[in-house]
Amino acid sequence: MNVLMDLRHLIFPNRCLGCGILNSGLCKICLMEWEFQRRVTHVQGLRVFASVKYSPVVSRILLAAKENGIHEADLLIGEALSHSLKEFIKTRRKDVILVPIPSQKSAVRRRGRAFVFSLTQSLAAENQLHMLTPLYHSRRVHDQSELTAKQRQTNMSSALTIGRHSGRGRQVLLVDDLVTSGATLNEAVRALRNGGFCVVGAVTAAVALPLG
Ligand SMILES: [Zn+2]
Repeated sequence: MNVLMDLRHLIFPNRCLGCGILNSGLCKICLMEWEFQRRVTHVQGLRVFASVKYSPVVSRILLAAKENGIHEADLLIGEALSHSLKEFIKTRRKDVILVPIPSQKSAVRRRGRAFVFSLTQSLAAENQLHMLTPLYHSRRVHDQSELTAKQRQTNMSSALTIGRHSGRGRQVLLVDDLVTSGATLNEAVRALRNGGFCVVGAVTAAVALPLG
């Protein structure tokens, strides 16, 4: 480690992404919460494959990536998504097109990037899959973190559209970082099916169990 790196670590010591103790990456305790398992849930008949169970630790890792652009957190979420995709692929032929859940323009401006879009790009490249971005918001929606399941449903109702994209004959797999109530996935499925896409499932890094 050179002198500059030494200084940087003195000023900004590495902290665990999950709990904040002095530790690089994830500490042993938080690492246990980031253990991958095949976690399949159903959102109105759609199978959703996730790898980690949502918890305060997982929430902090997602926020570190999403809101603070911390590269190590991006890598952790990328690994979880890869695991979810591998579990999905075991159940069917590998001929799907990945479709990210879109971020709102205001979020993209604030974060300096479209978070799920960039995760999906890496996932597609690693697995030699195609990616399409037909979904976008047809109106503003509220941040969902403080909303109940019912409020999320209302918030997302008819909020997504595919514009002029034609989905005829295209089998797509939705990608998101987290599934909580399933309201966003539901709305994405509705918009895609309206456009003729065949939605075969969804993959996320984390899942809040039980859904609702
Ligand atoms: Zn920790």
